[in-house]
Amino acid sequence: MAELSGIPEVPARLVFMGGQASEARARVIERSAAWRRSQAIKDLLLLLLVPIVFFIPPHIPWVLLVIGVAFFRAFNHNREYATLLSLRGTCPKCGTEQDFTELGRMGNPHKVTCSSCRWDSYVEVSRASEAT
Ligand SMILES: [Zn+2]
Repeated sequence: MAELSGIPEVPARLVFMGGQASEARARVIERSAAWRRSQAIKDLLLLLLVPIVFFIPPHIPWVLLVIGVAFFRAFNHNREYATLLSLRGTCPKCGTEQDFTELGRMGNPHKVTCSSCRWDSYVEVSRASEAT
């Protein structure tokens, strides 16, 4: 991912339900309102496909699918306040060091699952790298 190279890692914490926490490193981009709006508009451009897919049998299901995907993507981009690009750390439960795969739109709280013990932890990042 080209986006990764210029983004510095920031300290993060992985917190387990029981209160144990461990250190982690994360790459996070804060998203501006303008970024969220432009991404949502791009998603809605999918609607331009509606007249095209209408001609593919069975017609209406394709139209509904395209409309559904466009609005679902726009809805998610519109609430993407931060994007998690990478997360590396030690599981607070079992101590396994790993790269977590739950990246993309950051939830609040953002849950990750340990690949070794399958327990869930929550990510805490004090500050994001930069606003885009
Ligand atoms: Zn674990």
